[in-house]
Amino acid sequence: MKKLIHVFLNVLYPRHCPVCHRILRNQADLVCPECEDGFRRVGGHYCLKCGKPVKPQEEYCAECRGRKRSFDRNRSVFLYDGKLRQSLVRYKYYGAREYGDFYGVSICRYIGEEIRRWNPDVLIPIPLTSAKLRMRGFNQAGYMADRIGEKLEIPVSHDILKKIHETRSQKKLNAVQRKQNLKDAFYVKEDLRGFTVAVVDDVYTTGSTMEAAASCLKAAGAEKVYCITLCTGQG
Ligand SMILES: [Zn+2]
Ligand SMILES: [Zn+2]
Repeated sequence: MKKLIHVFLNVLYPRHCPVCHRILRNQADLVCPECEDGFRRVGGHYCLKCGKPVKPQEEYCAECRGRKRSFDRNRSVFLYDGKLRQSLVRYKYYGAREYGDFYGVSICRYIGEEIRRWNPDVLIPIPLTSAKLRMRGFNQAGYMADRIGEKLEIPVSHDILKKIHETRSQKKLNAVQRKQNLKDAFYVKEDLRGFTVAVVDDVYTTGSTMEAAASCLKAAGAEKVYCITLCTGQG
């Protein structure tokens, strides 16, 4: 019966490829075979703090060398380029929720080992405000966190971290304005003393969202805050 429902749903809402956006020939796949390596990956040389690509001899990127971060480490799988941007737009705004399955699997495939080593007690997706959640219908980071949690058998919490108010787009703000913009945007509902948590989001750009969430989680007692992001800007 479950299988039949599946077949039926696939006819009504066929799965598309997250890379080329065509309907998948084999509806049991998450991506076309020829698109498997369609997104550019972060190579073997990345900043040990924020996960952005660095030159082979560098341990940290220029930005991380000069500042303290509230999170312990971020790892991203892909580079945020035009292809990935388009994929995420369809995922977030045009109903291609199935892309999240491929994103989750990719995260587990490429950095799953490291996530296991962190040994997080819980995965925490970066939340949306309730207004935005209603508008969008789902939390793109939450969907990915659920897939990762299933695969790596780590609990996922959708309500430890709350987003209280909307922040303005960070793009046009300077460093001081960014900080102010994100200050108090998040709220932690639980006592996290002794916990190791891993925060999940789709894109890592300046790191300011992660910074704000992580400082909030640490203030609530979290011992370690790791970050998992699908993709990163190139710094
Ligand atoms: Zn494809
Ligand atoms: Zn860095």
